[in-house]
Amino acid sequence: MSRESLSKRVERAGKIVDGLDRLYPDAECALLHGNAHQLLFATILSAQSTDQTVNRVSPTLFKRYRTISDFADAELDELETLVRQTGFFRQKSKNIRGSARKIMDEYGGEVPDQMESLIALPGVARKTANVVLGTWFGKSEGITVDTHVGRLAHRWKLTWRSKDSKDAAKIERDLMEVIQREDWTRFGHSAIWHGRRVCMARKPDCDNCALSPLCPSAHKV
Ligand code: SF4
Repeated sequence: MSRESLSKRVERAGKIVDGLDRLYPDAECALLHGNAHQLLFATILSAQSTDQTVNRVSPTLFKRYRTISDFADAELDELETLVRQTGFFRQKSKNIRGSARKIMDEYGGEVPDQMESLIALPGVARKTANVVLGTWFGKSEGITVDTHVGRLAHRWKLTWRSKDSKDAAKIERDLMEVIQREDWTRFGHSAIWHGRRVCMARKPDCDNCALSPLCPSAHKV
């Protein structure tokens, strides 16, 4: 793919952000949570799963383990049983307990609000850290690139990677280059909503998409 000028991508990105704001003024993180550690652990559970599945297990999980200390002391067997439905439950359980222990040992039981500290926790990559930083701490350190945001970045040609690229870190860098920093968190939420409701992976509903006049892929997918 030839590389379009940066200014054109920036201009299109701004219009798409405005369009998403109009379409989804209330877009927010769909994972149930009431504090930073619940959001962190729910986001770890959401990998290779869906928010609905995670939201089915979260109420019981958060009732059983109320504090980070409770998670740090969890018996793996019991934790695994509670999160089994979300898939990859053994690794996720290890990561959740490992993160809780590290937060207890190194951060006095408080979820850190720095990117470097978050991505040093077991099972936490930039995507999870961005969710926690943006949604809970209100910090724009990056853009959450999940499967929906990655797909839409390609369709909107806001990334110049080959269309098969699923390298979230590179796509995130491209998006950060063309989207205003104050819009990063909101864009992440609203793009996910658009990807779920309208611009689905297999059958994007271009006929009913309010963003089609802006979209380089309208009626071409
Ligand atoms: S016009 Fe089609 S491809 Fe473009 S964002 Fe809308 S649904 Fe997706």
